[in-house]
Amino acid sequence: VPVVGVLALQGDVREHLVALAAADAVGRAVRRPEELAEVDGLVIPGGESTTISKLAVLFGLMEPLRARVRAGMPVYGTCAGMIMLADKILDPRSGQETIGGIDVIVRRNAFGRQNESFEATVDVKGVEGDPVDGVFIRAPWVESVGAETEVLAEHDGHIVAVRQGNALATSFHPELTGDHRVHGLFVEMVRANLAPGS
Ligand code: GLN
Repeated sequence: VPVVGVLALQGDVREHLVALAAADAVGRAVRRPEELAEVDGLVIPGGESTTISKLAVLFGLMEPLRARVRAGMPVYGTCAGMIMLADKILDPRSGQETIGGIDVIVRRNAFGRQNESFEATVDVKGVEGDPVDGVFIRAPWVESVGAETEVLAEHDGHIVAVRQGNALATSFHPELTGDHRVHGLFVEMVRANLAPGS
C-alpha cells in the first residue's frame, strides 16, 4: 500500500488524510525533512500559499521538497498547493517562493471578489464517470502553460487542473466533497511510480 504524505504546515490536512485513506493509500502528516524522506508521494493541501511557503522555508523543508519533486516523487497540490507547485506566480507576495515542478504561471485569487467561493461541475481528464464537483475557495487559475504541461480541466475558459509528469494540481478541493476519484487518480500515479513498467 503506498504511503502518501500530506504537507502539514498549514491548511486542510485532515481532509486530505481522510480522502487518501478512502483512495486506498496510507496517509501521513509531513512536517519534517525526515518524514518527507519516508513517503512515496505527497499532497500539498489548500490553505494560504504565502504561509505554507514561509513555513516550508522556516522548517527547512523547501530545498528537500524541491529535490524530491525534481527526482520525480509524485505530488498533488490543491488550490494553495497548486500555487506551491507552479514554477511561477503572476503577482507573488514579497518573499513568496514556490516548490515548482509544473511549468505554469498561476494567478492567485483569480476568480475575483464576486466569485471568491463557488461550486461548479468540472470535467477532469482521467477521471471516469460523472464530472467532479469542484469546490473553489479563493482559488487560483493557471494563466499559461508550458509545452510539457497537460491541461486536465477548464472552468469558464480558465485552466483549473494540470499535470506534468508526476505532478498534478487542481484549483479546486476534491478533499472537501466526499468524492475521492481525483485522489484515486493521484494514488494510481504513486503506485505506478513505485512499480515502473508493471
Ligand atoms: N487564496 C489562497 C492562496 O493564494 C488559496 C486558497 C485555498 O487554498 N483555498 O494561497
